Amino acid sequence: MVSPSLAPSLSLMTTGPAYRVAVVFGDGIGPSVVEAACAVLDATEVPLRWISLEMGIQAFHRIGQALAPSILEDIRDIGVVLKGPLETRPDSPFASVNVRLRRELGLRAQVRPVRNIPGLPSRFVGIDLMVVRETTEDLYQGIEFHAGTVAATELVRWLGHQGHQVASDSGLSIKPISGSAIRAFLEIALRYLNVTERRHVTIVHKATVMRATDALFVSEASAAMTKESRLDFDTMTVDAMASALVRRPQDFDVILTTNQYGDILSDLASGLTGGVGLAPGMNLGPGIAIFEAAHGTAPRHVDVNSANPLALILSGAMLLDHLGEHLAAGRVRLAVESVVAEGTSLPADLRPGTDSRPAATTDQVAAAVIAHL
Ligand code: NAD
Repeated sequence: MVSPSLAPSLSLMTTGPAYRVAVVFGDGIGPSVVEAACAVLDATEVPLRWISLEMGIQAFHRIGQALAPSILEDIRDIGVVLKGPLETRPDSPFASVNVRLRRELGLRAQVRPVRNIPGLPSRFVGIDLMVVRETTEDLYQGIEFHAGTVAATELVRWLGHQGHQVASDSGLSIKPISGSAIRAFLEIALRYLNVTERRHVTIVHKATVMRATDALFVSEASAAMTKESRLDFDTMTVDAMASALVRRPQDFDVILTTNQYGDILSDLASGLTGGVGLAPGMNLGPGIAIFEAAHGTAPRHVDVNSANPLALILSGAMLLDHLGEHLAAGRVRLAVESVVAEGTSLPADLRPGTDSRPAATTDQVAAAVIAHL
């Protein structure tokens, strides 16, 4: 946890008009990186009034609901959220809160920018791309039939009647992709891309094999892109994109894709520029934006204060941009770059193996960013 001097103001400090921002501390390393990011945003002196919302395991244990309807109402009302990661266990007594948030709030588009940070060793220079991913459907919708259950056995039998021979001991994960969800996603994604400097979109798919789903995505996305005057586009299969990204990531501007491919490709791309500890992101829906890092709860960093807070701090810079506070957003990014370039306050995941100095703790990294603002 960060020192008290870095702790966020949590709706107590601001007296004049302030932006209301909901904050979800999350699980695992969530509280420590969220506190660090709130402290940095507070230090920009943009007036922010933090409103803490509880969800996930803690809410489940306290009130018996991991995502209470009143929390969804609060998010709709406030509209802007800074969120820490939430744990999803395979044996969890409740459905993934991340998935529910995206579906219930219509957060159909997730944006994950990937850039070189000057001063950080990378095999490539000039990486500046953005993965824009649909987040409510596809294999992550959670329609799962475990092997040996009555439902799986019935589904396998039904598939047999349709002429599809499936082994009787199969588990099945269903991949729904609908024209209506793709169109809703494209509307949000293209509205966002049109207010950025982005020019070229690559639609990523595996339509050669998945003709009922990925081909539908390509067809809807291509139709929408042909109407765009500012943006041009091409298409690429996901396997070709994976190979191209590790050979010439500088060639790509926007990767527009479905839920699962976007998840994998954004992590792959972030690995080219410093890893998930530096990968920010946001989820966009109608009137709502949730800002969160690409990483999860990183259990091994809990209790040792060693999590890298920069991904969430950079997500905070995206939040400031969303509020129209571009100057402050730029100051945060520059401060992060200065900390990385200076190299004396790097967290463990950014330390080169040859550097024997002790890594900076989460709050030391946050303090270094604040010092460079
Ligand atoms: P993870 O991102 O937590 O960890 C992957 C690797 O990256 C680990 O080696 C971890 O130590 C490292 N790492 C991640 N964040 C880091 C940071 N800030 N600083 C330093 N190192 C960091 O992914 P996982 O282990 O697959 O998932 C753990 C839990 O997080 C699971 O319950 C998963 O469901 C959840 N998760 C939540 C979200 C979210 O809430 N948006 C996203 C991804 C995973």
